[in-house]
Amino acid sequence: MKNTLRSLAFAALAVAVESASAHPDPIEPEASGTSVPAFFLAQAGPPRATQPAANPAPRHRVTIGIEGDQRVIRSNGWPDHEPGAFPRKGNPNTARPQEYTFRVSTNPKAAATPERRGGWFFAVALNGVPFEASTAETWNNDRSSGWRYEAATGFLDLGLDEHHAHVQPTGAYHYHALPTGLVERLGGDDQKMLLVAWAADGFPIYTATGLTDPQNLASPLRKIKPGYRLKTGARPASTGGPGGSYDGRFTEDWEYAAGSGDLDECNGRVGVTPEFPGGTYHYYITAEFPFIPRQWRGTPDQSFAKNEGPPPGARAGGQGGPPPFGGADGRPPGPPIITALDGNGDGEIDTAEINAAAAALRRLDRNGDGKLTPEEWRPTGPRGGPPGEGSPRGPR
Ligand SMILES: [Zn+2]
Repeated sequence: MKNTLRSLAFAALAVAVESASAHPDPIEPEASGTSVPAFFLAQAGPPRATQPAANPAPRHRVTIGIEGDQRVIRSNGWPDHEPGAFPRKGNPNTARPQEYTFRVSTNPKAAATPERRGGWFFAVALNGVPFEASTAETWNNDRSSGWRYEAATGFLDLGLDEHHAHVQPTGAYHYHALPTGLVERLGGDDQKMLLVAWAADGFPIYTATGLTDPQNLASPLRKIKPGYRLKTGARPASTGGPGGSYDGRFTEDWEYAAGSGDLDECNGRVGVTPEFPGGTYHYYITAEFPFIPRQWRGTPDQSFAKNEGPPPGARAGGQGGPPPFGGADGRPPGPPIITALDGNGDGEIDTAEINAAAAALRRLDRNGDGKLTPEEWRPTGPRGGPPGEGSPRGPR
């Protein structure tokens, strides 16, 4: 039965999954009405209990020092708080320690225009864990479509834990929004502006607690608001777009509106901070989109470019025989229909999963119109690439 189902599905769908070997975030639509996205849980209530890891957790390691005119952050990328359990629903990857050496200028300068780059970490937290905002998930699995799914707006379950983090195929644990556990370990941001990270251009990053008067350290604190808003109206469907109303699921659903918030398009502003009483440009991690900045005000350092090949021992598609249905350990995810049917991700579609097939298929119905269109069931094609986090890369 399993082989029949598999070959049927693969044949019928004319699968092309080979190019997704570096893909971090399998599409797994949130089951409508059955669960609350992790992001909102973490915002609204106490952290969920985390399951103990199967193996002893690696030890957190980070050093931050000044070398010449550079701030150097060396870390193994393992957080100083307990990460969520991975793999998990929405994220098939196993967190592993990394070897990072990030360098930023101690005297950063604003550039003439903001800059964004795909395939780069945006910043590194004080605990040595990097930030990356973009996902590799695109509409129709077509990165040329210009429509990229958001990780933290609550529409797509990419397995973010209570720290708004999950894991790339390299094993790199990384934040998509507020690093909740780090903020707690730093004493919280109730009473002060809280420095939590260094951006790749050298400017500091704070939580959303900021000064009412950005030029006065003694002014009262308040929540800082980003300057982005949802576009109005509907997405263009006739021109090859996903259609539907702008609801926040795509990065492109959002637009910057100068003056609508406290911050510029880089989610930052100039002002004084506890660490820089003379004033500096600085970023904020906001509670609403864009959460973490999407573009740099200054020039990012090359050390934030991601150039890893597959991790040691990672199985790429085609090596060592065909994977069951793909998805784990950075393997190419299987076709969406198989992934949906294989509820427990064990590579088999058992009796219970067959009985639950109708409900599973309904979860693929992203626009909720009661039917599955090709863009909803189409198997994985080329994915990733700028500005996402999972652009396919061969070993180097
Ligand atoms: Zn991610």
